Amino acid sequence: MMSFHFEIEARDGKARTGSFATPHGKVETPVFMPVGTVATVKGVPQDVLEELGVEILLNNTYHLYLRPGVDMVRQLGGVQKFMSWDHPILTDSGGFQVFSLSDLRKVTEEGVMFRSHLDGSSHFFSPESAIAAQIGLGADIIMAFDECTEHPAEYARTRASMEMTLRWAARSKKYFEEHKPEVPWFSSRQEKTQSLFGIVQGGMFADLRRVSAQKTVELDFPGYAIGGLSVGEPRPMTYEMVDAAIRQLPDDRPRYLMGVGTPEEIVHYVAQGVDMMDCVLPTRAARHGLLFTSQGRITIKNARYAGDEGPLDPACNCKVCLRYSRAYLRHLYASNELLAQMLNTIHNLAFYLGTMRKARQSIRTGQFAEFVSGFQPPHVDPLSRPAAGS
Ligand SMILES: [Zn+2]
Repeated sequence: MMSFHFEIEARDGKARTGSFATPHGKVETPVFMPVGTVATVKGVPQDVLEELGVEILLNNTYHLYLRPGVDMVRQLGGVQKFMSWDHPILTDSGGFQVFSLSDLRKVTEEGVMFRSHLDGSSHFFSPESAIAAQIGLGADIIMAFDECTEHPAEYARTRASMEMTLRWAARSKKYFEEHKPEVPWFSSRQEKTQSLFGIVQGGMFADLRRVSAQKTVELDFPGYAIGGLSVGEPRPMTYEMVDAAIRQLPDDRPRYLMGVGTPEEIVHYVAQGVDMMDCVLPTRAARHGLLFTSQGRITIKNARYAGDEGPLDPACNCKVCLRYSRAYLRHLYASNELLAQMLNTIHNLAFYLGTMRKARQSIRTGQFAEFVSGFQPPHVDPLSRPAAGS
C-alpha cells in the first residue's frame, strides 16, 4: 500500500518513535501537528513553518467547507496545492466544530443539521457528506465522522452516542472505499490516495472507551484517533481514558489523540504510547501573549519584561529567541502590533516541535524517563497561573 505506511523504530516503556509515509511526504512520530484552521497557521507563512520543521498540518473541514468551499479547493488541486504546502495535511471530520461552533444543530441517525457561524445558512453533515467534503479537500489523512459526546454526560447517553459513532464509522469507511479515487491528486498508477482513520469515543467511561476501541478496530483502519477528551474533565481522568483506549488498539497502527494539550501533557501522552497530537494551545496562547519556555510560562505583557534585554527563552534557538529581546516582544505586544502575534506564534511552535524532537531522540537512546522527569518545569499548572515567576 503506497498511501500509508507506519513503522516503529524504537521503544522506551510504552513510548514509541518511528515514522509514517503519506502521498505528500514522511512524518516522524511522535508528532505534534500545528492547527491551520482555514488553511493557514494564523500569522505564520508556510516557508517559516518549513524552517521550524513542521512535517504535517491539521486543517478544519468545517471551516474550509464553509469558506472557500470544497468545490473551489478541489478545482484548485486540493488543499496542499491551494495553500502551497507540499507536505502532509490531516483534516478533521467537521464533527467537533459542528458541535462546538454552529447554532441550532439537530442530530439524527442520518447526520447533523447545523447553521453556519458565518452567515446563519443551513447545512447538513452526514458520514457520507463529511467524507465527500474531505475527499474534495484532499488531505493525506482524513477522519471518520463522529459525534463528540458532550461533557458531562450520563452513562446511557454516552453509550448511545458511542454506538452511533460506530455506525457512522462504518458508513464513513464504506463511502470512502467507494469514492477514494475522487481525491484531486489521485494516481492509480502509483496507488496514491488518502487514508481514513477511525475515532474512538466513549466519554469518561473506561468500559465504553474499551468497547469503542475494540469495535472501531474491527472495522480496520490504518490509524486510530481518540476523540472527545480534554473537554473539561480533570487530567487524571483524561489519562485513564487514553489508557483504556490504547490497550485495545493495535500496536502497529498510529494512535492520534485529538485536541491536546500543554507541553507537560503532550509528553505524558507520548509516555502512554500516543503517536500524534494536535492542539490550538501553542498558537492561540501565543496570540494572547502566553509563551512556553524551558523556564516555564511567560506572560509577555507583564511590566517586569519592559526593560529585559535577555532572549525570550535562553535555551531556545528559534529565530525569535536568537534575534529579539523580551523587552522588544513586550513592547510589540503592548502596542498591539501584528508582529507580536507572528513572533510569539513562531516561538511557541518551536517550543512544541522541539519538545517532540527531544522526546523522539530520548526514546531512541533509551533515555525517555530521564527526559520526562527533567522536562517538568518548577510550576506545573499552566493556564490558571500563566505568569511564570511573576
Ligand atoms: Zn524561541
